[in-house]
Amino acid sequence: MALNSYEENDFRLASPAFEEADSDIEISLRPKTLDEYIGQQKVKENLDVYMKAALQRNEPLDHVLLYGPPGLGKTTLAGIIANTMGTQIRVTSGPAIEKPGDLAALLTNLNAGDILFVDEIHRLSRSVEEVLYPAMEDHAIDIIIGKGPSARSIRLDLQPFTLVGATTRSGSLSAPLRDRFGVLLRLELYSPQELAQIVMRSARILGIEIDEDGALEIASRSRGTPRIANRLLKRSRDFSQIVGSGSITVEDAQQALSKMEIDELGLDNIDRMILNTMLRNFHGGPVGLETIAASIGEESVTIEDVYEPYLMQIGFLARTPRGRIVTDAARIHLGYPVGGGDQQTFL
Ligand code: ADP
Repeated sequence: MALNSYEENDFRLASPAFEEADSDIEISLRPKTLDEYIGQQKVKENLDVYMKAALQRNEPLDHVLLYGPPGLGKTTLAGIIANTMGTQIRVTSGPAIEKPGDLAALLTNLNAGDILFVDEIHRLSRSVEEVLYPAMEDHAIDIIIGKGPSARSIRLDLQPFTLVGATTRSGSLSAPLRDRFGVLLRLELYSPQELAQIVMRSARILGIEIDEDGALEIASRSRGTPRIANRLLKRSRDFSQIVGSGSITVEDAQQALSKMEIDELGLDNIDRMILNTMLRNFHGGPVGLETIAASIGEESVTIEDVYEPYLMQIGFLARTPRGRIVTDAARIHLGYPVGGGDQQTFL
């Protein structure tokens, strides 16, 4: 069922998930060096040291696991690693590697020092994962030749390489796989100030005129996510060009965003539907994730990976042992009464 006019013809504008329409600009907007990469200070500092040390020793970088919600810059970082280390990068994803043989083919084609980037690495099947263990540890894979009693295993040596895995959920990774990563880096949602810098940078690259307040307005409605910020910048440009001043001002941005039904905190229809459903049907919770998912017709993993991180970050949703609850801050934002019989007791 279409949820709003944008869902019908387009995709969800405030979704951090990669959409086909992003592909043209994402490549041109991706920072190529750590210096160009805005925010994530801790991650950058650590990665910088690890890369410099590996370069000095003339060794490939240890395997890196990047985790955090979609659209925060994991693929971008993998590209920066390859660029800094002066190596090639092969990009694939967990669901794309269907059989152990697919992974073996990828691994045996790597040159010394290459980066293998596996997005959504938590979605690798168990049998594929097992090929990765010796590859990560000993730079070798075991191949079974033949069938039945005459089957035998031979070991193939690989070139030393760096696996960069990305996942939205480090908890879904099996322990043996997680343990084989030497570097674990967690990406955080960006502050509005950082996102404003990203918007200004993207506007410069794309030749879009925008003033600082306009950039901050877009930034503060982008759910802490660069991919959304870049997307809202492009849509605001359209509004500004046709009905505004041509150069995106705060008023243009506000008008564009309200037309896109994205409110001043960056919530869109689906966020509001989650909160409204919880408030109307479940007195604000506690309510289980599966129940919320069934009530609004979304997958529970999507709610967990895509919607919840931001709703929790702004303090609108909380997790308790008995389920999710809507907070008073969300009630106030959505115009529900606070206090009284339905008031939620916090655990
Ligand atoms: P992920 O792999 O985590 O889903 P991406 O690396 O594809 O996210 O990033 C999405 C877009 O956001 C990229 O096109 C890039 O331009 C932009 N981006 C992400 N992080 C940054 C950053 N730190 N600085 C500038 N732009 C960024």
